[in-house]
Amino acid sequence: MKMFRGKFFIFFVTLFALVGCNSAASGDKENTIKVTTTIAQIGDIAENVGGEKVTVESLMGPGIDPHLYQASQGDIRKLNDAEIIFYNGLRLEGRMGDILNKMSESKPTIAVGEAVPTKLLLEDDDETDKMDPHIWFDISLWLFAVEEVKNSLIELDGENADFYEENASAYIKELKELDKYAKEQISAIPEESRVLVTAHDAFKYFGEAYGMEVTGLQGLSTDAEFGLNDVRSIIDLLVERDIKAVFVESSISEDSINAVVKGAESRGHSVEIGGELYSDAMGTKGTETGTYLGMFRHNIDTIVNALK
Ligand SMILES: [Zn+2]
Repeated sequence: MKMFRGKFFIFFVTLFALVGCNSAASGDKENTIKVTTTIAQIGDIAENVGGEKVTVESLMGPGIDPHLYQASQGDIRKLNDAEIIFYNGLRLEGRMGDILNKMSESKPTIAVGEAVPTKLLLEDDDETDKMDPHIWFDISLWLFAVEEVKNSLIELDGENADFYEENASAYIKELKELDKYAKEQISAIPEESRVLVTAHDAFKYFGEAYGMEVTGLQGLSTDAEFGLNDVRSIIDLLVERDIKAVFVESSISEDSINAVVKGAESRGHSVEIGGELYSDAMGTKGTETGTYLGMFRHNIDTIVNALK
């Protein structure tokens, strides 16, 4: 009998704990601000600045190319459910313009890229009036995005302004340290080897900020095909400059870069794949490269190891 009661006791304690946990979890969810972002880089800002006050959902996971991305029914639901939406803008999310416009009629829908002063943006070489959207690769520009997310959260939830301010300061401090690390590491590569060849032109801001020459096989967006001429001119560059490594991107097929490696080989110049860089998409959530700081550091270390 004693044992019987003991079991019952455990049963009730367990039941109570489960019910208790459940209501606590759903209670938290109800009291947080629902944030939906396009790319996960922006989701990372919202999580760091918003902390426990926000629930963040990013539509574009690992390996997803934002230039070509189209919103699914599930995405539209997540955008509808959001209290606030952050996206990059500058035409990064080229195929989501209509849906984002529609969302802006009913809730704050903010292009963080538009917070960067125009004079600091790089122009698209191929198209006038079009700016390079890949601003997250220059940390000094990305800080404008952090400020924009912080200000937008404060506007929505002024009561917690101090909380957002503090979180943003801590995050900005880490970003500035990473910026310093990037400059130190890249400058350790011999100057003539500071050439970054990738599948598409995601790294121009990176090149400007950290002192590398960058070339992509495709332009700023991946929606245009690359031609034989593009492959040939990159092979010329590799041979002429004696470049030892090129890089694949996690969100783009490796075929284009493999064609470059083969082409260089046929001209007697051996080039290796220096590793995989996170360009337009971050790594898997819960891993090192699933955070902005982690993926940026991964890129720096990969580039330095291959070119040093
Ligand atoms: Zn891109």
